Amino acid sequence: MLFSSVIGQNAVKKLLIQSVQSGRIPHAQLFLGSPGTGGLAMAMAFAQYVHCENKTAEDSCGKCAGCIKSQQLIHPDTHYTFPFIANPDVKKKSDEKPICSDWAAAWRKALAETPYMNVFQWMQQLSAENKQANINAAECNEIIKKSSFKSFESAYKVFVIWMPEYLDKEGNKLLKLLEEPPENTLFLLVAEDEKNILATILSRTQLVKFTPIEESTIERALIEFKQTDPALAAQVAIIANGNYNAALELIENDDFESEQLWLEWVDLLVNQKRALWLDFTEQFQRLGREKQKHFIATGLAFIRQVLVFQQLQIPSALWKEKELNLSRNLAEKMSVKQLEKWVSLLNKLLFYIERNGNAKILCLNACIYSARIIHSTSGTLAL
Ligand SMILES: [Zn+2]
Repeated sequence: MLFSSVIGQNAVKKLLIQSVQSGRIPHAQLFLGSPGTGGLAMAMAFAQYVHCENKTAEDSCGKCAGCIKSQQLIHPDTHYTFPFIANPDVKKKSDEKPICSDWAAAWRKALAETPYMNVFQWMQQLSAENKQANINAAECNEIIKKSSFKSFESAYKVFVIWMPEYLDKEGNKLLKLLEEPPENTLFLLVAEDEKNILATILSRTQLVKFTPIEESTIERALIEFKQTDPALAAQVAIIANGNYNAALELIENDDFESEQLWLEWVDLLVNQKRALWLDFTEQFQRLGREKQKHFIATGLAFIRQVLVFQQLQIPSALWKEKELNLSRNLAEKMSVKQLEKWVSLLNKLLFYIERNGNAKILCLNACIYSARIIHSTSGTLAL
């Protein structure tokens, strides 16, 4: 991946390039940014730049052997670690534990599609949406073992650890290595949520912050890389809220299911179809946690667009007639304050879903309080 293929984040690119040019690369860095801001894409570009034989002051050459191997994700001096489950197609001896390289082919395929993916999309690639992924002790041992070898082709060995939030206490095995790695060994940890990273790991890495990507940057990237119609790109960039992965999903219309379900739910609320709420809570529960989160995110994006529509009379380019009618209805019925209350309620729902709350009860509460917010100004947020 070239730096020029990473969307936005120019300040980070500059910082990383300077560190290589000056020969003072921090040995353990934590790329931290909210989902869809490009930490993994940047780590790939950085590893390629480090290995490139003809790098310039702006980017890798894209043509040397190092670049070609990096682009194909087969460079022997870049090692990727990520959350995973056991691969049922890989036979192991009884004393062997699963490790990341069991999924090497799937990983390459997923990154070729988009390095902006989230863990849910990655788990879908493994057909493991509802399983609990992690980074296990065997994989930590693998990192320790590989770090003890000399590099093969590059001056550096690079270890990319995507989502260190999934390292349980096993992560403590890596502390010594992060603190005093062998010579010319670089660690790039790519994370979304600082709170879920072991404090002992945080304190041993240099923080590199990724900010949400600017709307105009997302808009340009969609037009340039995805040949998106400019009017649609502009709308999607607003809804994506700094998350390039969300923008890609909207363009590819992957979230049709969530969108449809969201419209059904709002219909139950707006038209006070209370008798059907319980059925809906069961349907919601069956989705599984990641799809529930996706559903809520779809709803939050939708409400943001209703706010834009209400204030500026600009409908989303993604809306079809059904969405437009519903949005018109909500925009007339609800004040800004009510819409904001609803956003706050859905954020709370998301918070508890992420922490494994009881989906059915949470959903029923969300029905009750959402309907209250929609139909009156006295809705309380007692979720
Ligand atoms: Zn090169």
